[in-house]
Amino acid sequence: MATINVTRSSMPDFEEYCEEIRELWDSHWLTNMGIKHRTLEAELKKLLGCEYLTLFTNGHLALENILEAFDLHGEIITTPFTFASTTHAIVRCGCTPVFCDIDPATFTMDPGKIGALITDKTVAILPVHVYGNLCDVDAIDAIAKKHNLPVIYDAAHAFAVERDGVSAGAFGDAAMFSFHATKVFNTIEGGAVCVRNAEMLQRLCDLKNFGIHGPESTPYVGGNAKMNEFCAAMGLCNLRHLADEIEKRRLVAVRYDARLAGVPGLQINRVPDNVRFNYAYYPVVFDGYKYTRDEVYARLAEQDIIARKYFYPLTNAFECYQGLPGFDPKDTPVAAHVADRVLTLPMYADLPLEKVDQICDIILG
Ligand SMILES: *Cc1c(COP(=O)(O)O)cnc(C)c1O
Repeated sequence: MATINVTRSSMPDFEEYCEEIRELWDSHWLTNMGIKHRTLEAELKKLLGCEYLTLFTNGHLALENILEAFDLHGEIITTPFTFASTTHAIVRCGCTPVFCDIDPATFTMDPGKIGALITDKTVAILPVHVYGNLCDVDAIDAIAKKHNLPVIYDAAHAFAVERDGVSAGAFGDAAMFSFHATKVFNTIEGGAVCVRNAEMLQRLCDLKNFGIHGPESTPYVGGNAKMNEFCAAMGLCNLRHLADEIEKRRLVAVRYDARLAGVPGLQINRVPDNVRFNYAYYPVVFDGYKYTRDEVYARLAEQDIIARKYFYPLTNAFECYQGLPGFDPKDTPVAAHVADRVLTLPMYADLPLEKVDQICDIILG
């Protein structure tokens, strides 16, 4: 019996990809903002409704480059209920994460708890649209404006998510998307940043290319975070099938919902009516259910079905941060509660609905 993993990367037909990369053999232009890079950027600007967008080698470096571009030094209010990357980016850029608790229904940062965390050292707010659930962007925006702080969204999960027709890329002062192989839209490895003006965009373009602005001008101490032509070509192919992929994911989610919604002790993800969702993940919180999260995980694993405990442990419980002030999951009790009980079930476009039924049978059995 084949193992069912939590996700499976979307790929175009082999021939479609070969056709896409054919011209690279003519041009011998493999990276450094070639034709594929520029074409993908143009397509994504349209799709994400963001005029100021640039590509990166991955989402994590995109995030680090945003923090550098905004020249942030101090405390950044963020969430521990996320992938390692969010917190590591803050620390690796020399800033201090200050952990805000989450809302138990959406798993995103609880705006009501931000105010108490603001000090004279606070330099930014970095929330995450976790599982593709949009943060309460209006409330966060209001707090940020009041304190004159930039808001940088980790939108790694929120590709193609819209609220009232407005893309996740349009909220805040900057938004980062990840195009990692496991995300809804992938470029194998890749990422993008949306910002709000040409000056910030230029700074990011320079930073991702060693801080070089022109042949004789290097204004920044930059690194290397450019997306290469082969990854951009993969993105151009995958983009053609995006709507199809998301629709298939939606059908998987509908099937899970039909089996799991309303079962006492199970909390499933709710998508507001005004949101166009991407069905990136299918999280379930097992709270007061006949099996614990870990029991469900083990029962699925027995049948070669690999769910993931996303996001457990919380990033403020990581051993690399042990003993550091401010890194304590007890400070974020809602996030700690969810992290102990949540499981993301297998979710990808080609997951057969019979498998979804099998997974639900195991959970409900
Ligand atoms: C995937 C992910 C990242 C990092 O993106 P990469 O493209 O893998 O570097 C950052 N934040 C979150 C929440 C993610 O899920």
